[in-house]
Amino acid sequence: MHVEELDRNYLFHPMTNLAAHAENGPHMTIVEGHGATVTDRAGRDYLDAMAGLWCVNVGYAHPEMAEALREQALKLPYFHAFSSMGTDLPARLSERLINMAPVPMSKVFYGNSGSDANDTQAKLVWYYNNVLGRPMKKKIIARRRGYHGVTVLSGGLTGLKNLHDGFDLPLPMIRHIRPPHGLWEREPGQTDDEFATTLAIELDRFIVNEGPETVAALIAEPVMAAGGVIVPPDTYFPKIQEVLDKYDVLLIADEVVNGFGRLGVSFGSVSTNMKPDLMTVAKGITSAYVPLSAVLVSDKVWQVLLDGSAKYGSFGHGYTYSAHPLAAAAAMTNLDIIERDGLVDRVAENGKLLHELLHTAFADHPNVGEIRGRGLMAAVEFVESREPLRPFAQQGAFAGAVTRAALENGVITRALPAADTVSFSPPFVTTPDELERMVAGVRAGLDHAVGELRSK
Ligand code: PLP
Repeated sequence: MHVEELDRNYLFHPMTNLAAHAENGPHMTIVEGHGATVTDRAGRDYLDAMAGLWCVNVGYAHPEMAEALREQALKLPYFHAFSSMGTDLPARLSERLINMAPVPMSKVFYGNSGSDANDTQAKLVWYYNNVLGRPMKKKIIARRRGYHGVTVLSGGLTGLKNLHDGFDLPLPMIRHIRPPHGLWEREPGQTDDEFATTLAIELDRFIVNEGPETVAALIAEPVMAAGGVIVPPDTYFPKIQEVLDKYDVLLIADEVVNGFGRLGVSFGSVSTNMKPDLMTVAKGITSAYVPLSAVLVSDKVWQVLLDGSAKYGSFGHGYTYSAHPLAAAAAMTNLDIIERDGLVDRVAENGKLLHELLHTAFADHPNVGEIRGRGLMAAVEFVESREPLRPFAQQGAFAGAVTRAALENGVITRALPAADTVSFSPPFVTTPDELERMVAGVRAGLDHAVGELRSK
């Protein structure tokens, strides 16, 4: 049987329409990748404008990554970290992450995915408030369109309806507020700063309404990724943070996509003036060569967790794969490559080029509502009409058509479920010529989608 048949018959695909997959099987079978290019089983090359799922930052098949993994697998593929057992690389990686952190951090807790790391965040926040004798302070605020994972807890933090439907999510202690999306949420004529002030005042009222004694934390991506690449106004997080401080509410920065250079600076928190108490990282920490996530804990939170030992004994949370040596080897080598090759500066430089290319290709098109992003993270949002501003009636269908046509043109991009938005998040090693071809492939995809729309 062909692998496509095996896939159709046996593989339960994540984030996939199950009935459509049962009918049609996979779109393609990727069997190889080099740099920013992946190749399917038929031998056709595609430029991957998404670096997988915003994660293969050093590019596919980096020989140093392969060598580091081979060496570590031959030396010590695994040992656990339960009950104070130690291994060398996770200890070294922890020191490195603490030194890299954009705000002073104290400790690192490891997991395997962004989702489980955000579950850890919620448990830390609850534990923290229990140790402090505030058992009522448990609600976690997230933002609509935010993406924080899919587990029972983190799936609810995610502010996307299609991740809740059918799963009885979110859990009762989760709340959602408005995102700082300029295109749809801002009053006409409002400046960036006025928009930020409005959202901060709303948050203040929201917390007062809920009862500040019941609100534990707010979780936010510095620049939202899957919700539509939403860049907040510069004063948004400082104003939000003032409100959180007033009510003793912790701030969790979800840096799963932004962290380690995606925006052309070290972390999203630096880019957006955010000063988190807790940070989540994953994806770019290993460029996805091996699954790894981490939670960085500030001293303020850590000191309280320490007091928890007297009250609760051993800290009852941890995964078989927490502090996995092979994953730590991948992270160390990945961070070495990013530092040595100056890849964050390259992201800043190529990010400018990407945004210029996008503006040249898309800005004048009547179905383009907004082009936005930062560094090598960008999005084009499509609308049915610019004046008056009106979205397409069937949200997401048009971006889906653009993405499918771009794929035919040899470019992999992603239609974001929350809107008619096509996103770009190419590997850091993508060349200027490849960026040009990515943008051209999606632009041609737009023409095709418009043609399809007219012929309906
Ligand atoms: N947080 C953010 C910002 C993400 O973009 C994602 C995944 O895309 C997650 C968390 C969840 O990570 P994972 O898919 O590794 O569970």
